[in-house]
Amino acid sequence: MPDSHLMHRRLVILGSTGSIGTQTLEAVAHLNALAERGQSRQRFEVVGLLARSNGGMLADQAARFGVPVLALGDEDGTIQTRARVLRGAGAAEELVRATRPDLVVTAMVGAAGIPATLAAAEMGIDIALANKEALVAAGQLVVPAARRSGARLLPVDSEHSGLWQCLQGLCPRGELLVPPTPAPAVVRRAIITASGGPFRTTPVERMRAATVEEALAHPTWSMGPKNTIDSATMVNKGLELIEARWLFDLSADRLGVLIHPQSIVHAIAELADGSSIAQLSAPDMRCPIQLALTWPMRAEGCARAIDWRALASLEFAEPDPARFPAIGLAFEAIRRGGGAGAVFNAANEVAVGAFLGRCIPFGRIVEIVGEACATVACARAGTLTEIMAIDGAAREFAAGRVGG
Ligand code: NDP
Ligand code: MG
Repeated sequence: MPDSHLMHRRLVILGSTGSIGTQTLEAVAHLNALAERGQSRQRFEVVGLLARSNGGMLADQAARFGVPVLALGDEDGTIQTRARVLRGAGAAEELVRATRPDLVVTAMVGAAGIPATLAAAEMGIDIALANKEALVAAGQLVVPAARRSGARLLPVDSEHSGLWQCLQGLCPRGELLVPPTPAPAVVRRAIITASGGPFRTTPVERMRAATVEEALAHPTWSMGPKNTIDSATMVNKGLELIEARWLFDLSADRLGVLIHPQSIVHAIAELADGSSIAQLSAPDMRCPIQLALTWPMRAEGCARAIDWRALASLEFAEPDPARFPAIGLAFEAIRRGGGAGAVFNAANEVAVGAFLGRCIPFGRIVEIVGEACATVACARAGTLTEIMAIDGAAREFAAGRVGG
């Protein structure tokens, strides 16, 4: 295929040294190799990468992919490279503004991703969204900004990628369904699945006292530490409910969660006519990552496919609210609106940090989130300054509970 037929896309990856970031670079290498062989029409040029402190890996990635601009969130992080290096808490946003890519993959962790996500949405840059916390805390700013600029929020989170694919099938005349966009009215309920994590069947009292090592041993997914703990508490599913609310304008009564230990079915759209559409793929993040990169096209995958012959059963169960109270707290946050998502997220970030630092028992994480949600004022959340103030207040509250 002559080069002129290739679609050239300039890419920035925020959080390139993490679990999603490294798998994104794997997908980029795979897709570029396909393009080289004439088997794909898209070619990706990585124009910027960001990490927090892992300058060694960042420099290696930059050399391998020929990346001209790098960024380190840590002011003092060391790096040896010929590339230009931006530094500090504002480096993620600065990187997006300096490079103006076609697509930014947001794969950093936590509310630290808010300014860069919002900047990309305002600039009309497409966002392959992994950093769900930014949308949970600031969806009321990011979604309208994306609508105004035409930026698309392409889900990387497997459940939302799955839901996106389910909803795509409902568009009359084969139009593209471009998030953020309301789910079609025929969708009665959108269900996202959860593996149940390492404590799906552990007695609740025993689970409350789980060690860091036990909580980090996820049965089906391999992820960064924060997301793995969020999966064990099911705060991750709570964050994902709020994420789905923003991506597809779904009210709390049109959202649901099912425990599905095999992690094969990622999302189900229940339709008004009694039919359901589900999306299935192996638990391999390279599958949704690649779709966010190639959409609206698809290419030969670098992720593993489902082995149907080895698949004995697909099980589904309602989550037990006594075991996983985080889901109820997330539904409440969706109903309350305002800055409730910012409180839910920030309190959790502090509590997870404290658990990983062995300062609080596992069972305290969600209790602290619940206490913050019940206490921290969050009605005024219409500007970035107001949201950051709520985020700060929730962090302060949670830090007090962690110490006390
Ligand atoms: P990791 O902890 O594996 O990686 C995080 C990445 O972000 C690293 O590159 C890290 O740099 C960088 N980073 C973290 N904090 C900052 C900061 N303050 N400033 C600059 N860079 C920072 O996380 P994951 O890849 O697991 O998760 C990334 C995001 O994707 C999260 O929002 C998560 O919820 C979401 N997600 C993850 C999934 C998964 O399978 N892992 C699935 C679905 C969503 P350094 O290496 O230097 O610390
Ligand atoms: Mg997920």
